[in-house]
Amino acid sequence: MKFDKQVRRVARWLASADHILVFSGSGFSAESGVPTFRGTGGLYDDPDILRYAHRDALEEEPEEALAWIEGLRGRLTGYEPNPGHRALARICRDHACTIATQNIDGLLEDAFEDEGLSTDCIWHIHGTLKEARCLDCNEPAEVPDDYTQARCDKCGGYLRPNVVLFGEMLPEEPFARAQEAARKADVVLLLGTSGIVHPAAALPGLARSHGAKLVEINPNETELSDICDVVIRGKTGEVLPEVLEAMG
Ligand code: NAD
Ligand code: ZN
Repeated sequence: MKFDKQVRRVARWLASADHILVFSGSGFSAESGVPTFRGTGGLYDDPDILRYAHRDALEEEPEEALAWIEGLRGRLTGYEPNPGHRALARICRDHACTIATQNIDGLLEDAFEDEGLSTDCIWHIHGTLKEARCLDCNEPAEVPDDYTQARCDKCGGYLRPNVVLFGEMLPEEPFARAQEAARKADVVLLLGTSGIVHPAAALPGLARSHGAKLVEINPNETELSDICDVVIRGKTGEVLPEVLEAMG
């Protein structure tokens, strides 16, 4: 196997860790067919993304912004978990883990549920498309079939997906939980993230300053590669199943 030595080393670290922090990004779902953010065919290629995926657009031109958000949702949903999601679910079944995910697609939760596992250890630091709330009164709502048509039961306002848009703060509790996990983790797995989007990208550095070992699994170099103890230049859907197998 291509990554044998590194995989065995990472498997040993994970097996003996008291706490594991997972920090994932859009590349973790790439093998399911979900577009990443940057890179060829990524969401960032859309010239309208900075305009419509922005808090100001929802306030100033909500109908146009919600129509664009419907298109975004269409691009990020309707996929199945890949072998990386499934391997991670099994690793977390047997070890204390906190997952701080930037993924909004819900595929990791699907993999956990398929394994019969609780998703309580998954914290969405950029929100999730599986939740909706009112744009005006913030009341949680069922995810509608069409955001352009749906309205809040309580106040009649527009609904929006519970995801973090440009110009918005990260949700408090998920980010606080992620930071808490960073301070106590022995090992951090960096899965499919470019490490560009802040403040999320500061989590691995925080963990490192508290003594954690950092492991990056990504086919490409990232902003965080230099601070990692082990870098495996492969796809998460191929490498994580090997790590799981090596953990025994
Ligand atoms: P990014 O697009 O900036 O980086 C993706 C990273 O994944 C790159 O480093 C790339 O080399 C790597 N990658 C690609 N294929 C991979 C594979 N098979 N295995 C492992 N790594 C692979 O994405 P980001 O760092 O997550 O930041 C972008 C932001 O966009 C995030 O905040 C996220 O919320 C949002 N986003 C989410 C989704 C999703 O939920 N699936 C999709 C697009 C964007
Ligand atoms: Zn409302």
